[in-house]
Amino acid sequence: MDAIPVLDWGDSSHFDHRRDRPCCLCGRPTPMRSHDGEPVHKVCAEQWNVDHPQAPRLYRPPDKTDRDRPQHCIGTTRFHSDGPHTQILSRPARTTTPRLPSPDTGGLFAA
Ligand SMILES: [Zn+2]
Repeated sequence: MDAIPVLDWGDSSHFDHRRDRPCCLCGRPTPMRSHDGEPVHKVCAEQWNVDHPQAPRLYRPPDKTDRDRPQHCIGTTRFHSDGPHTQILSRPARTTTPRLPSPDTGGLFAA
């Protein structure tokens, strides 16, 4: 059996100390929150990722007028460790093809 990739949810944003809510996957109470604030056990999220290897992480298309603004998750279907924003990447050199979504694909891509 392959090892299950572990999510890094040590950040306080993944823990809601105010109250437990039902896990969106198993229904049992949990103080844990996904990157998007959804109540889910960390182990349930990790197992879901393993069970859905093709599930994409979706982003709002980049803003053409402000390319330094980070992208934001929209309708994310995959659990991940970091927050809803991407890191601001350095601009690609003109000779390389940027790995940004094209308008024909609806502006979405998997990370
Ligand atoms: Zn659960």
